[in-house]
Amino acid sequence: MDIKYNADVIVVGAGPSGVSAALSVAKEGKKVILVERASYPGSKNMYGGAVYTTALEEVFGDDFDKFKFERVINSHSWAFLNDEGSFELTTKNDTSRYAYAIKRFNLESQMIEIAKKYGVYYIPNTLVKNLIQKNNYVVGIKTEQEEYFAPVTILADGVNSLLAKELNLRNNYQSKDIILSVKEAIKLDKKTIEERFNLKEDCTNGVSKQYFGTDFGSLKQYKNLFMMTFLYTFKDTVMLGVGVNLADLSKNKLNINEILEETKKHPDIYPLIKDGETIEYSAHLIPEGGYKKIPKLTSNGVIITGDAAGFVNGVHFEGTNFALISGKLAGESALVALDNNNYSQNTLSIYNKKLEKSFILQDLYSYRNVIENLYSRSNSISVYYPKKIKEFFEIVTSANCISKSKQFREFFFSFFKDRKISELFKDVFMGLKCALDIFFGK
Ligand SMILES: Cc1cc2nc3c(=O)[nH]c(=O)nc-3n(C[C@H](O)[C@H](O)[C@H](O)COP(=O)(O)OP(=O)(O)OC[C@H]3O[C@@H](n4cnc5c(N)ncnc54)[C@H](O)[C@@H]3O)c2cc1C
Repeated sequence: MDIKYNADVIVVGAGPSGVSAALSVAKEGKKVILVERASYPGSKNMYGGAVYTTALEEVFGDDFDKFKFERVINSHSWAFLNDEGSFELTTKNDTSRYAYAIKRFNLESQMIEIAKKYGVYYIPNTLVKNLIQKNNYVVGIKTEQEEYFAPVTILADGVNSLLAKELNLRNNYQSKDIILSVKEAIKLDKKTIEERFNLKEDCTNGVSKQYFGTDFGSLKQYKNLFMMTFLYTFKDTVMLGVGVNLADLSKNKLNINEILEETKKHPDIYPLIKDGETIEYSAHLIPEGGYKKIPKLTSNGVIITGDAAGFVNGVHFEGTNFALISGKLAGESALVALDNNNYSQNTLSIYNKKLEKSFILQDLYSYRNVIENLYSRSNSISVYYPKKIKEFFEIVTSANCISKSKQFREFFFSFFKDRKISELFKDVFMGLKCALDIFFGK
């Protein structure tokens, strides 16, 4: 059969990676079809709440100015939770404009509107069921109603990417490679948010907080649970969520919803969300396999991008920037294939070269052992050090008429009394190993 192509490129999935891929192809005057299963933009997607300016500007250029965001996010905290409070490190810069809070519906719908202006043909409410292959090449897609053909298909279908699995491009993730996250959008009035987080009325500042530690409430009993909690301020909403890896959830027979409920009660978090109304509850998976789980990124007629390729740096809560830039590189690689009229895996593998030159593969490579190492020392990070940091600062701040040298000495010796030296060495070794990996990079 001779193939009658409907487009030059088909993109499956209209999240950040898909829209970015489609836009970069359409900007060069090529015909692109962007297919999304959701009936309205962003309804199948979920995240914490911050998108990053550098990536958005790189993909959208002058159109970046058209985006309407809710708040600038320019205060970032890392807090280690304990039973009564927390130890918190904050960096704050009211002039910084490198991250913004925006709801997924607004992000995706604004991205799609811009892409449509450049000629992207957007088909919502349409599930791609299968890929169509001919002579070992992907040549199109099959939806519930139609078939569409193009010489290049870009898979931007997110963490589950059933289509990449269909092509056997992806090793199956194990439960330790996937985080399950749930998030509540908690509505408060704008003024209350401004008072609680010390924010300006004009939304030119906002807060992101990452919390570590499980040594509180009913979570105390789980000594080896690694969990991350995030909080973002929007205009009149606070986004609060938790993420735990699937292996930990099943090992401890834990329910992620109960973890979120327990976290909401923590004495540092409760006052921030008190009297708020939960207006949205969502759950999503995050790929955390990192560099070691990157799939085969291209095959004849096909490229994989964004979460579908596992491009996330969970340590830094970065995903949308990886998605936007990898999508753009996928689009550019499709253009090279179109120019050469050659859609082989060999031609499309220019995508790998582009990724290697970008921060995407460089970061994923330098962080290739970090998550695994953090999990292997989860008790230290979630329980032991938050407790010790708390004890240390209690000495620093308590005017209790006991000699400071005596208190610091006792604190120092408690390190070796409360924990085996071999365990302390393992922590130091793990910390050094991660630091060296990141320092030397690729
Ligand atoms: C809890 C949580 C918090 C996060 N916080 C942040 C954050 O603060 N900042 C940040 O930068 N990143 C964050 N991320 C990561 C970020 O959300 C993702 O990395 C990013 O959305 C990936 O974009 P994508 O386009 O590759 O995939 P997605 O956004 O998942 O989009 C995939 C799209 O494909 C569609 N699709 C799937 N299958 C099909 C099919 N067969 N047919 C048609 N359409 C299909 C889906 O409906 C979806 O719209 C977070 C993620 C989670 C889960």
